[in-house]
Amino acid sequence: MANPVKRWFQSFFLLEMLRGMRLTGRYFFARKFTVQYPEETTPQSPRFRGLHALRRYENGEERCIACKLCEAVCPALAITIESEERSDGTRRTSRYDIDLSKCIFCGLCEESCPVDSIVESRVLSYHAETRSELLYDKIRLLGNGDRLEGELARDRQADSSYR
Ligand code: SF4
Ligand code: SF4
Repeated sequence: MANPVKRWFQSFFLLEMLRGMRLTGRYFFARKFTVQYPEETTPQSPRFRGLHALRRYENGEERCIACKLCEAVCPALAITIESEERSDGTRRTSRYDIDLSKCIFCGLCEESCPVDSIVESRVLSYHAETRSELLYDKIRLLGNGDRLEGELARDRQADSSYR
């Protein structure tokens, strides 16, 4: 236990507070590491795992062939796929849902896809006010892909593991 005289001395001259102010003053003039988000952002890897998107080929055809590998590999059971045969004999999804309230952004769906269809974009600033808004269906996922295709293609080009 501290000496009572010493404690009284420390209290009377506010030594603890002065020590705290000295620490504050030191960091006040030091180089800042905080980022003023959203005006400023930190650098992102081309492999950043954000909002999902379904990509198309350049001719507008959906890449997804409904193999369901992504659905099978998803550890969170967040993906639901239904498929059907089209009139030209190819197989395509009739339903492709991702429940982002379950997703843990592990990237396994992206890794497993043989045609680079389901991908995770750099987008991290999205939100929802209800759980149902976090259910991304095929139309929304294809819309994400259409909107972000330029960036998605560049990131895959930049990352040698995708070549
Ligand atoms: S990122 Fe992981 S958890 Fe999320 S949908 Fe893909 S496989 Fe499932
Ligand atoms: S997104 Fe890829 S892995 Fe998933 S069903 Fe389509 S082709 Fe298969």
